[in-house]
Amino acid sequence: MSASPRRPVPKHARVVIVGGGIIGCSVAYHLTKLGWNDVVLLEQGQLSCGTTWHAAGLVGQLRAQESMTKLIRYSTRLYSELEAETGLGTGWKQCGSLSVARTAERMTQIKRTAAVARAYGVDCQVISAREAGELWPVMRTDDLHGAVWLPGDGKANPTDLTQALARGARTRGR
Ligand SMILES: Cc1cc2nc3c(=O)[nH]c(=O)nc-3n(C[C@H](O)[C@H](O)[C@H](O)COP(=O)(O)OP(=O)(O)OC[C@H]3O[C@@H](n4cnc5c(N)ncnc54)[C@H](O)[C@@H]3O)c2cc1C
Repeated sequence: MSASPRRPVPKHARVVIVGGGIIGCSVAYHLTKLGWNDVVLLEQGQLSCGTTWHAAGLVGQLRAQESMTKLIRYSTRLYSELEAETGLGTGWKQCGSLSVARTAERMTQIKRTAAVARAYGVDCQVISAREAGELWPVMRTDDLHGAVWLPGDGKANPTDLTQALARGARTRGR
């Protein structure tokens, strides 16, 4: 991948990606991983200077659609390996996550989503309000119907992640 300000922009490329946020850098990373090393990424400012810079960095696998669940499951694996691959920290921390329900209807909905997540191999446990309180003691739990605990969820630093994906792409680029 060509993405360095020190290099002139090539006249030809197999793929030109416009925008160096998490999406553009991820596309460049994955294309080069597939062997497409003639990739140019154009960024008008600095890598991750757009919306990515503002993202909180929460990475949760409990999604309404199975395709999203599969995608985020893949992301958690990638984020845990990216630092070792690129030598750049990503801020990835597998701290787990709690999704809580304050109504019976919400409890039914998160149980359903949890069942779908489990079917796709995501470690996902339906727990009581008391157990949720033990995991996050500062939380009020007397108004909860229950919760879902995903130990594989985590957080990352979106800016660092973007830089790591860009370095992975550069390393495999021409
Ligand atoms: C770890 C992580 C967790 C996240 N969690 C959540 C979440 O829980 N909920 C949620 O809603 N979102 C989440 N997000 C997504 C986040 O909020 C943004 O939606 C996402 O980062 C946007 O990325 P992007 O690459 O599409 O856009 P941007 O980061 O905005 O990147 C676009 C880039 O294109 C450049 N650009 C634009 N026009 C041009 C041009 N003409 N020429 C050259 N460059 C141009 C801009 O300068 C910018 O850098 C998360 C993201 C990360 C990385």
